[in-house]
Amino acid sequence: MPYPNLLSPITLGPLTLKNRVVMGSMHTGLEEGHDPAPLAAFYAQRAAGGVGLIVTGGIAPNAHGAVYTGAAGLFSDAHIAFHRTVTDAVHQNGGRIAMQILHAGRYAYVQGCVAPSPIKSPISPFAPRELTSDEVDAELNDFTAAALRARQAGYDGVEVMGSEGYFLNQFLVTHTNKRSDAWGGPYANRMRAPVQAVARIRAALGPDFLIIYRISLIDLIPNGSTWDEVVTLARAIKDAGAHVLNTGIGWHEARVPTIATSVPRAAFVHLAARLKAENILPVIATNRINTPDLAEDILARGDADMISMARPFLADADFVAKAAAGQAAQIAPCIACNQACLDHTFSGKPATCLVNPRAGRELSLRYTPAATPKRIAIVGGGAAGMMAAIVAATRGHRVDLYEAGSELGGQLNLAKQVPGKEEFHGLVHWVTAEIARLGVAVHLSTRADLDDLRRADEVIIATGIAPRRLDIEGADRALTYAEVLRGAPVGARVAVIGAGGIGFDVAEYLVTAAHSPSRDLAHWQREWGVGDPAVQAGGLILPQPDAAARKVTLMQRKTGKLGRGLGKTTGWIHRAQLQAKGVEMLAGVEYRAITQRGVLIAQGGVQRLIEADTVVICAGQTSQRDVADRAIAAGLTVHIIGGADRAAELDAQRAIAQGAELAAAL
Ligand code: NAP
Ligand code: SF4
Repeated sequence: MPYPNLLSPITLGPLTLKNRVVMGSMHTGLEEGHDPAPLAAFYAQRAAGGVGLIVTGGIAPNAHGAVYTGAAGLFSDAHIAFHRTVTDAVHQNGGRIAMQILHAGRYAYVQGCVAPSPIKSPISPFAPRELTSDEVDAELNDFTAAALRARQAGYDGVEVMGSEGYFLNQFLVTHTNKRSDAWGGPYANRMRAPVQAVARIRAALGPDFLIIYRISLIDLIPNGSTWDEVVTLARAIKDAGAHVLNTGIGWHEARVPTIATSVPRAAFVHLAARLKAENILPVIATNRINTPDLAEDILARGDADMISMARPFLADADFVAKAAAGQAAQIAPCIACNQACLDHTFSGKPATCLVNPRAGRELSLRYTPAATPKRIAIVGGGAAGMMAAIVAATRGHRVDLYEAGSELGGQLNLAKQVPGKEEFHGLVHWVTAEIARLGVAVHLSTRADLDDLRRADEVIIATGIAPRRLDIEGADRALTYAEVLRGAPVGARVAVIGAGGIGFDVAEYLVTAAHSPSRDLAHWQREWGVGDPAVQAGGLILPQPDAAARKVTLMQRKTGKLGRGLGKTTGWIHRAQLQAKGVEMLAGVEYRAITQRGVLIAQGGVQRLIEADTVVICAGQTSQRDVADRAIAAGLTVHIIGGADRAAELDAQRAIAQGAELAAAL
């Protein structure tokens, strides 16, 4: 049997789960709809895909504990029917599902939010109100009421959210708990709220209801928990009646990335292993685990009892089924980009997945077998063209994919060169392998001619983009970002024109020496100041970034902060990385000329030379439409997708989604 540890059953209190894979808690944005059907379909598909246990996104035990006004809750009997539809769908598909009870405390984006002490969080505009002693009691009773309703709604258990800096976590540390009553002061008092939350649920629901407690292993904030405190809490949580400890890494306000793609894989598993060695309760490892091989290794080493993966189940609902069938190579990889999931959530949009546009849209985007198989010619083997080929071939169409270059992948092949974006290798590998498996006829180093296109029933043009050239004096002296990322020699001082996603990526590439910290855990920990909570409370130490490999100046014409348009949940990481490497960031720049000595600019009317040995242009893109224009002129009807359709704000998410949506409709 493949993955003998990962796929072996485990008993947690009243439940025996068929394997050790947990689909971790993730808000999808479908929880707030009036119609439960889309959320039920989303979870049902994951249950059918074989995951051992699903944990829902955070469900609030009361209105002021919700992550934002109107966010999903279970604090009225009227909410139960919605949840019952979800649990029925999961059970009908052979799955198990626990509901996460999430009280956000001072992280609630809610006027009138509450917390142990009135200390505003740096990531919320709302200062919390300090609870009275009796009110703390009442909040904890709301946890119990939510758990009772969860059982009525058919859930197999609850997860009590005690990590990530949410309400219960806020009691644990002096950073946010300045109380002097029974809920504050010495650690025995500070841990009373989380322990009581569990104990009261256990008392109210009896022994036969699964309780998971999510414990913070490393807070990554000043004055966070010590390791001794983590262990003390784990023991008390066991005594209070929990069956299993899920693990949490870092508070949301931490200035250390914990799940971004640049975080090395399995970066925090050593802490789960340390907790497991205490032999208190079964331990679930989490964060940056995205393949069955990695998960199996962790279990085989005895570092954890179960593995929680959240985003990988957006990327592929059949993660477990494919692993069990010996088809792990077919699992669509989560590249930890956050672009279509967390960035959407934080923008108030439903979560989906860059790699899998069906995620969260199971009812509206279907890849049904084609009634009449067609011959489909696709021109361009970048993200849009490849995804169109995969979906069209999945549906039974006969697909020819023409690529002028010598390999598939397009812009994804540039992204994978950027330090911290190594996961793109896996994405290119997966799409290429799927195209081969599905029998797509790939024509590399081939420019499709009109006869090729005329033979097809449908023609898809996905010829992508070209880096924008600039119309300023000396522009021909500069390199494009594509040339740089393909390995063109670059001097010691570099001026980068354009500070969008690619300008930041190129700057990162230029300041990083040969070895990417994302591939070396100790190096990455040093760069970000991640220590050991057994030595420093909270696990924070002084960051020691390597010296920059080059002196880089990054420029944009807009005024205002550079990187404003970067991902909501990852932009701060990119900015912090470049700041740590001493990258000079200039806004409000007017480019006058590129000379042998660098770039002549004006800023606020003052002329200045940015001395540089190399100038790199990252000033966006223009569509490559020559094939489309020729085909249209010859009277052909074509579908144009990806960068060829619209270059502005093109990213892999849009390209892939557009390719999939078109191919689903042909
Ligand atoms: P972009 O984000 O549109 O940025 C283009 C940059 O070039 C801007 O800084 C713009 O700033 C500048 N620019 C535009 N026209 C110019 C001109 N004529 N002369 C001089 N400067 C000019 O495009 P991109 O950086 O090429 O990225 C392409 C897409 O990929 C974007 O949608 C981006 O979000 C996405 N991407 C995302 C990530 C990620 O990590 N999520 C990473 C890479 C790329 P000014 O106009 O102010 O000068
Ligand atoms: Fe993973 Fe990116 Fe998909 Fe989110 S959008 S699930 S991070 S691949």
